[in-house]
Amino acid sequence: MAASSGRKGRRWRRIKAQVLADCAGICIVCRHGGATYTDHVVPIEAWKAMGGDPEDPANLRPIHGALNRCSVCHRCCNESKGDRPLEEVQVVQGSRDW
Ligand SMILES: [Zn+2]
Ligand SMILES: [Zn+2]
Repeated sequence: MAASSGRKGRRWRRIKAQVLADCAGICIVCRHGGATYTDHVVPIEAWKAMGGDPEDPANLRPIHGALNRCSVCHRCCNESKGDRPLEEVQVVQGSRDW
């Protein structure tokens, strides 16, 4: 796992843990719990273009990832989201399939 540590250090890990705790691990895409990854709500390039800090917890939310698929819907939410805006990938709950 050391290969992916890169430039993200202790500060990042603390921010991530904080975001996961604050949101109780509720995934932003499928809205089920148990997420251990975080993803940017506003795509990172757009966020930085607005002058945002890439590690600002305000722009981070829990999400399911490749090694952390959702145990409820079995999605890999991070992969299905990619760099697309959240509205495009977010699961709309309560909608009917006519
Ligand atoms: Zn999810
Ligand atoms: Zn799910």
